[in-house]
Amino acid sequence: MTVKMAVPNKGRLYERTVELLLKSGLDLGEDWGRKLYVKAVNQDIEIVFVRAQDIPEFVNSGSVDLGITGLDQVADSGYEMENLLNLDFGHCRLSVAVPEDSGIGKIDDIENGTRVATSFPGITKRFFESKGKNVRVVTVTGAAEIMPYMGVSDIIVDLVSSGTTLKMNRLVEIETLVNSQAIIAANKDSLRRSRDEIIDFVDSIGSVITAETKKYLMADVPSRELDQITKMFPGLEGPTVMNISGRDDMMAIHVVVDKKDVYESVNKLKKLGAKGILILPIDRLVP
Ligand code: AMP
Repeated sequence: MTVKMAVPNKGRLYERTVELLLKSGLDLGEDWGRKLYVKAVNQDIEIVFVRAQDIPEFVNSGSVDLGITGLDQVADSGYEMENLLNLDFGHCRLSVAVPEDSGIGKIDDIENGTRVATSFPGITKRFFESKGKNVRVVTVTGAAEIMPYMGVSDIIVDLVSSGTTLKMNRLVEIETLVNSQAIIAANKDSLRRSRDEIIDFVDSIGSVITAETKKYLMADVPSRELDQITKMFPGLEGPTVMNISGRDDMMAIHVVVDKKDVYESVNKLKKLGAKGILILPIDRLVP
């Protein structure tokens, strides 16, 4: 069965999404950059490029099996779908923000009838309803931050990452509705029908993300230090140890190390008499 996946065609999530797909081994052939629909050359997978905001709708209706989009978009849609993988990019939060001088410090201070500008009307309505607040949601497609200044709304619900844009517009965050990042969302019927194909594809993308945090380290080490060196690398399966032909005093080790530990590991190995230390990138890591 062909697995269909919708991915963002532009915007903040586009570049990293495409990078992950290509690194996972998906061959999109020539000229894919200009197409809105691509069939992979080497796998039974079709990619459609659409707007991040529309992806929950397509996943929910089953017109695609999978979608890469922000958790914020999925939450706003209100649709039930399975989150198969957190992709660890596109981090942001969807928050309520109010003018600095509004006197509002918490949700309880918001009065009924308050106008809330947002590009996330679904989740905004549900959020205020759950708080027992009868607000008026004003839907905008962007630039919610200037709506209080323009007199269009009193407060906003918008995405925040660093908080600089809010500050520039004299707004302060008072509550977070969703902590978001890019995810792979799946249609539940598709999962029932083609679970194995979908999981294989999602795992291949996950393996890229895992591999990016690791390095492959190879070194020749004194045989007498082997115990000590094995203790240094408790991760994964510990080092692979190989004989070096014609040498009894040295052995070769191969080991996967966390990127952050590479500097320290190399220094320790040098002190223990290691030679020919090589650090290599890993394309994919399937545990
Ligand atoms: P786009 O509107 O196509 O650029 O995509 C917006 C998506 O990028 C949002 O739905 C979020 O999931 C994600 N994102 C991450 N950080 C931010 C941010 N600071 N502002 C807006 N969107 C963000």
